[in-house]
Amino acid sequence: MSAYEVVPVRAFSDNYIWTIRDGSCAAVVDPGDAEPVIDYLEREGLELVAIINTHHHADHVGGNAQLLSRWQVPVFGPHDDRIPEVTHRVGDFDRVTLPHFDIALDVMEIPGHTRSHIAFSGDGMLFCGDTLFAAGCGRLFEGTPKQMHESLTRLAQLADATRVYCGHEYTLSNVRFARALEPGNAALLELEQRATRQREQNLPTLPSDIAQEKATNPFVRVGEPLIVAAASKYAGKPLHNPVEVLAAIREWKNNY
Ligand code: ZN
Ligand code: FE
Repeated sequence: MSAYEVVPVRAFSDNYIWTIRDGSCAAVVDPGDAEPVIDYLEREGLELVAIINTHHHADHVGGNAQLLSRWQVPVFGPHDDRIPEVTHRVGDFDRVTLPHFDIALDVMEIPGHTRSHIAFSGDGMLFCGDTLFAAGCGRLFEGTPKQMHESLTRLAQLADATRVYCGHEYTLSNVRFARALEPGNAALLELEQRATRQREQNLPTLPSDIAQEKATNPFVRVGEPLIVAAASKYAGKPLHNPVEVLAAIREWKNNY
């Protein structure tokens, strides 16, 4: 495996297209827009070697075709015809190897945001699209609260130090909501202060890591008594299990 770094390319208002790159080549995760990726690769003198897609939404796959018209590279993505450009369809327990970099990434099916959403993890990294965000989770467009709970639980079982590369810069708004649920959570306060400084300097707040998510993310912390109590208050009735709690706080966040 060669030395590489992971660099975000910004797209639209708050998307990150994560780029795994060394001095000559790059693989990109969820290129919703080709233009900023092409600009970046040209500026840095890099050849594209692979595309990774986590889910079918246009802000994650919209740049596939234009990139492929210039670089004929493999596209690793989910079993879902809504992404016609995918050349290697992968699901649970598949492992992909990024060409040139020789990085092995394990695939996990993590439905909830969409029914065919997948994540890629390996070498201390997790690319999780719109399922797990720093201190938040994706909206339930196609999946159920139960699916999202199972997906987040699975992701939270990765090693604490795993760096979490999410698809959007949503951290501050997520933290504000999380603070309403757990005002006494010191890790959340620290995250809010750090993320505020980073955003003031126009820096990304990502990657997060799994330890941070376990300490701060209310959608991961659905078993915590304070979160259960807050969710029950919102729902107007006692909630008895983590799936109900997740459903309630997801709905609350939608209207927050
Ligand atoms: Zn999405
Ligand atoms: Fe998205």
